[in-house]
Amino acid sequence: MSAHSTSERPQPLIVGAGPAGIRAAQALVAAGLRPLVVDEAPACGGQIYRQRLVPDGRSSRDLYGSEAAKAEALHRDFAALDGKLDYWPQALLWNLRDGRADIMVAGTSRQVAHDGLILATGATDRTLPIPGWTLPGVFTLGGAQIALKSQGCAIGSRIVFLGSGPLLYLVAWQYMKAGANVAAVLDTAPFAAKFNLLRGLPLFPAIVLRGMRMTAELKLAGIALHYGVGDVRIKGSDKVDAVAWRKDGLEHRLACDGIGYGLALRSETQLADLAGCRFAFNQRDRALLPKHDAAGRTSVPGVYLAGDGAGIAGADAAERAGERAALALLQDRGLPHDPTRAATLEAELARIGRFRDVLEAAFPFPAHWVKNTADATTLCRCEEITAGEVRAAISRFGVHELNRLKAVSRVGMGRCQGRVCGAAAAELLAHETNRGVEAVGRLRSQAPVKPVPLTLALAAQREAAE
Ligand SMILES: Cc1cc2nc3c(=O)[nH]c(=O)nc-3n(C[C@H](O)[C@H](O)[C@H](O)COP(=O)(O)OP(=O)(O)OC[C@H]3O[C@@H](n4cnc5c(N)ncnc54)[C@H](O)[C@@H]3O)c2cc1C
Repeated sequence: MSAHSTSERPQPLIVGAGPAGIRAAQALVAAGLRPLVVDEAPACGGQIYRQRLVPDGRSSRDLYGSEAAKAEALHRDFAALDGKLDYWPQALLWNLRDGRADIMVAGTSRQVAHDGLILATGATDRTLPIPGWTLPGVFTLGGAQIALKSQGCAIGSRIVFLGSGPLLYLVAWQYMKAGANVAAVLDTAPFAAKFNLLRGLPLFPAIVLRGMRMTAELKLAGIALHYGVGDVRIKGSDKVDAVAWRKDGLEHRLACDGIGYGLALRSETQLADLAGCRFAFNQRDRALLPKHDAAGRTSVPGVYLAGDGAGIAGADAAERAGERAALALLQDRGLPHDPTRAATLEAELARIGRFRDVLEAAFPFPAHWVKNTADATTLCRCEEITAGEVRAAISRFGVHELNRLKAVSRVGMGRCQGRVCGAAAAELLAHETNRGVEAVGRLRSQAPVKPVPLTLALAAQREAAE
């Protein structure tokens, strides 16, 4: 596909070539439009259907398991759009201003005007700081999966998976199937929480049964599953060599040299923020998210959201939301669109939303952890700020709002711009000020949304000023 836009006129711009972005592109092309799709990844597929970096003999089944057919269909459908859209892989959209996008591609920054913007930017891992979480050998669950999927690497020779969320069991299972040595799965939720999954049976029986099968296979392989773990500490001096935790008042310890850690996912919302979208608190995701209607329309005309970037709902929902957002764009432009299809997609998305509630109950986020986060634990790893320093800043300056906390403590001011520590800082601030997390606000996004070379950002700024 063309690495350069062939169109002189502004095109609809889709950010993200994951399930949501691809289905959005497909619907726009079907209606006769020629969108520009940009993605910082080298190949299409997004997170779940990420492609390996080099062919390595693994089949789709090896890579995507039960989702192999969906992955193949998505990759194939995107390839079939070749010539009908413009696609820039390895292209990072790092700023949005005045109806234009700054995109870093092939070492330069290009300003692109757009006529309609679909943000399908997906999600990243959510974590809370625990002692030792910055030691070499500790990966997020998503990071551990990326190593396996795209590079065919394991994160250690004796690995523990720790946290909450369906990804916890999925990644452990994928590692086991790939032949890695999985020492244990440490689930922060009590076993009783899993009974909530039974409520999901009438909605999506195949998914619930697949999850149960994975858990059973982990057990049959002799992998220890521990539920309701708390007070987790990752041990080691220059790299991880063990994990310790408490359960029912008893101390446990397990030797390992790799840890995959994650507490489900959080939406990537920086571009929606730069686009000027209004945000509202979402109880299920415990986060302030860009507001959108069932079709993906935001508070800004011509800006649409689709997929996990609009709230965590999974890959099947992302495909539907991408198509739905594209239909909304067509409708808003007065172009022919299919209202029956739109209604079907919305009904399916609502059903998936009900299932998400079930998953949230089965894999709850351990928000209570921040109460006991040791003062010495690093909270913001970019700026090397500990939980104790954050607590001191909150009480010294009487801080109640997250951006103010950033200003007085530098939390969230580093390279990641709070993408890693922002959720944890919000939880800690809420706890320290005795309020709900919805009351402390969210970090305002700043360009560049991800690191870009300074020379490139300055050149783009000069160009815009001329
Ligand atoms: C690391 C990780 C692993 C996951 N693994 C699984 C799994 O195995 N099974 C499962 O069911 N679910 C998994 N999920 C969840 C699943 O990936 C999502 O539900 C699904 O992919 C959502 O699709 P999407 O199109 O919304 O976003 P994604 O698939 O995340 O696609 C978003 C795309 O946008 C691109 N992008 C984001 N910001 C920019 C920018 N500024 N400029 C350019 N490009 C940008 C990204 O490179 C990415 O390709 C995983 C999630 C993560 C974060």
